[in-house]
Amino acid sequence: MDSKSLYTKAQTLMPGGVNSPLRACKYVNSEPVFIQNAKGARLWDVEGREYIDYVMSWGPMILGHQDPAVSEAAHKAVDLGTSYGAPCYGEVALAEEITKLIPSMEMLRMVSSGTEATMSALRLARGYTGRNKFIKFIGNYHGHADSFLAAAGSAAGTIPGTPGVPEEVIKHTLLAHYNDLDAVRAHFETSGDDIACIIVEPVAGNMGLVLPRDGFLQGLRDLCTQYGAILIFDEVITGFRLALGGAQERFGITPDLTTLGKIIGGGFPVGCYGGKREIMEHMAPVGGVFQAGTLSGNPVAMAAGLATLKRLQQCDYAALEARTRKFAEALTAIMVEKGQAMSLAHIASAFTMYFSKVPVTNMTESGQCNAEAYATYWQQMLAQGIYLAPAGFECSFTSFIHTDEDFEQTLEAARKVEF
Ligand SMILES: *Cc1c(COP(=O)(O)O)cnc(C)c1O
Repeated sequence: MDSKSLYTKAQTLMPGGVNSPLRACKYVNSEPVFIQNAKGARLWDVEGREYIDYVMSWGPMILGHQDPAVSEAAHKAVDLGTSYGAPCYGEVALAEEITKLIPSMEMLRMVSSGTEATMSALRLARGYTGRNKFIKFIGNYHGHADSFLAAAGSAAGTIPGTPGVPEEVIKHTLLAHYNDLDAVRAHFETSGDDIACIIVEPVAGNMGLVLPRDGFLQGLRDLCTQYGAILIFDEVITGFRLALGGAQERFGITPDLTTLGKIIGGGFPVGCYGGKREIMEHMAPVGGVFQAGTLSGNPVAMAAGLATLKRLQQCDYAALEARTRKFAEALTAIMVEKGQAMSLAHIASAFTMYFSKVPVTNMTESGQCNAEAYATYWQQMLAQGIYLAPAGFECSFTSFIHTDEDFEQTLEAARKVEF
């Protein structure tokens, strides 16, 4: 079946024909291609067309698709049974590896998605502090749990209001613009005694890539300490992407709790939250805060995750960062030559090329980018075999498997784009 007929059929079976809204490609005025298989930095659609992939499953595939060590570990695990619903070796091994690489995570809990990780971390912060309110940033995305769906980023940010989320739930969610420390301080000054936590993407990746201003993360840390609130770093994207120790290592700021996902599953559904032992011991069965999961610590996912983290320890993050910067700058320069106003945000193996004159530091500025120009660019790149995020407000990801030839082929395609 070709993509068009699959999409037609899918739309009768799933809302919008998809299992996650952005995949429908509405923000680039297009229709999705259906993927048949993936290897290295490449994807093939059901019609056999080949693409260089810069979505990389929205982040997890930092080693590329079908990394041999990860695939082998997963295959071996499958042969030992796919789920036990009982403790297993793999979850201990992966937990040990994560706590070694991210020392602030003295203890952790495995779950099956980033959404579960952030939702559970929020519950824990509330249970631990006995407070209800929390602060989140406009344009940050923390999965789709009710409390976070107030001015969220990613596709959620484009839906006006949040039908299905009661006002009573959202009234505990205090909002501030990313990078606006004064707004955070003001929240603490009015309701400091009832703020359980701040949750933040230490580098924002769901309104396009937005870096924290100097002093922003430290300011959050100081306010949390001063008011007895928990600082949660949502490192679902940044964990093992910015550095082996995540954004907290890179910026030298220690959160109380951290949420992980994406990369730690090696392409399988895994999430994780963890932090200070004293806080984590409030989780059942030691403490009273409840959270559970039928497939939590799934042996196949744990094996793939562990193999991924082992492989990453042999990878040269600095070299990939330098290559990614050079590539992203060249790509941006091509668009500038074509008369587009551009601004580039980059760190490690993530970048967003904004069709915008001004550097983007928050959601308002991200929303002012030229979505039409992005759609034109996206469509013409796809037609030339380059698979980019189907929305201008997302990150592009490179991986350790992307070659200089892949980058050159991508630049060549960009040169042919016409606005
Ligand atoms: C993707 C993402 C999530 C949600 O993870 P899912 O596995 O999609 O539920 C949470 N936080 C951040 C920062 C993310 O990028």
